[in-house]
Amino acid sequence: MTATAITRAAAITRAALAGTVTLEVARYLPGEDERPYFQSYDVPYHADWVVLDALNYLKDEVDSTLSYRWSCRMGVCGSCGAMVNDVPVLTCAAFLRDYLPGPIRIEPLANFPVERDLVIVLDDFMEKLSTIKPWIIRETEQPLDQGEYLQTPAQLDDFKQFSMCINCMLCYAACPVYQNDEEFLGPAVLALAQRYNHDSRDEGNTERNDVAWLDDGVWDCTFVGECSAVCPKGVDPAGAIQQAKLESTLGWYRSFLTPFGRR
Ligand code: SF4
Repeated sequence: MTATAITRAAAITRAALAGTVTLEVARYLPGEDERPYFQSYDVPYHADWVVLDALNYLKDEVDSTLSYRWSCRMGVCGSCGAMVNDVPVLTCAAFLRDYLPGPIRIEPLANFPVERDLVIVLDDFMEKLSTIKPWIIRETEQPLDQGEYLQTPAQLDDFKQFSMCINCMLCYAACPVYQNDEEFLGPAVLALAQRYNHDSRDEGNTERNDVAWLDDGVWDCTFVGECSAVCPKGVDPAGAIQQAKLESTLGWYRSFLTPFGRR
């Protein structure tokens, strides 16, 4: 056993013996509080508890005024994101045992305005998402009696990874470009543009790329890659953006060769 493993095992044993772990939770009620502050709570330690379990315990048993979002508890709804010890994570997938001996610091996702406590305001993302038209666009629809639009496994593979996005906003909290440039469309919006652009049923690339290929779109990204490092669904938004940059460059060259053609 390595020294690190021994230290961790000792920390887990100590927490198990103490029976509690300390959470430092950011609290803030705009309009009432001058600024955010941290409130400390001791919560029961259970090796199988995630941070969301501890927050739910606080809400149910200690302080019903604590505000945070959650729903599915299984990494699907994307609503329970928070900064835990400065890293954006889904609190339903972050085990207390991985933060021992504590204290565990829980804050709202970085780079967003705060509605209350751990609840962030998502308006900026929602507005930007609508600009890239995240739906299948058809120039003409085939008659219903011709059946559904079929795809080969290879065609599905071309966009499936990007379609796994759950809009959790961890990538925005990790992105240094979004932190400094509020006009940047951001990782998930651009990955979702690729999701539809690469769908064989879609014919909306030109409309979408009029927004995604601008300076505030893919060309704002400096390829730090933190978005992909924190993404809980393996979407790889950094990869999607680099792919779009390549397509944008090829489109630019192609526009000289076929000035009236599609990009
Ligand atoms: S790309 Fe990943 S981290 Fe970003 S919103 Fe989608 S699922 Fe979350």
